[in-house]
Amino acid sequence: MSFLRNYISTVYNSVRSLLIGMRRTGYYFTHHKEIITQNYPENRDQLNLPERFKGEVVMPHNDNNEHRCTGCTACELACPNGTIKIITKFDISPEGKKKKAIDTFIYHLELCTMCNLCIQACPTDAIKMAQTFEHSVYDRSEFIKTLNKPDSKLMEGVE
Ligand code: SF4
Ligand code: SF4
Repeated sequence: MSFLRNYISTVYNSVRSLLIGMRRTGYYFTHHKEIITQNYPENRDQLNLPERFKGEVVMPHNDNNEHRCTGCTACELACPNGTIKIITKFDISPEGKKKKAIDTFIYHLELCTMCNLCIQACPTDAIKMAQTFEHSVYDRSEFIKTLNKPDSKLMEGVE
C-alpha cells in the first residue's frame, strides 16, 4: 500500500513540476521583452559588462611604449597566492647612477582570483583590471603572461 502511495505521490509531483516549468515557459513565450538571457557569442559586439567586472590584470602602455611600473614589487607582495612575479634589473641613468627598473612582470592568469589586491597596492597605478574574459587556451603555458611589452620603459616623471 505504501508503495502505491509513493508511486502516486511521485507521479503527482512530477506532473506538477512539469506544469510549473511550462507555465514559466509560456509566460516568456508571450512576454518577449522581459527575457533577460542573451545570445552569446552572437551579441559579443554589444556586450555591456558591469563596471566592476574583473577579467585579468593588465599593464597599460602609452603610444611611446611606456608604462608606469617602477618594479617596486608591492603588487607581488600584496598578491595572496603568488600570481605575480616581478623580475627587476638596474638601469644606468644619464648621470651614471644605477636605478632599479622592471625587467619582466610575470602574471599567472591561471592562478589569479581577481581579488584586486595588487591593483590597490600599486603606488603608481601601473596595472589595472581588464574586462576580457574569453581566456580558453589549449596550452596551459599560454596563461603565463608578461605584462610589460618588449623594449618598453618607464614613463617620464613616474617615480
Ligand atoms: S588580482 Fe589578486 S590574485 Fe590576481 S594577481 Fe592581483 S592580487 Fe594576485
Ligand atoms: S605594478 Fe605597481 S606595485 Fe607592481 S611592481 Fe609595478 S609599480 Fe610596483
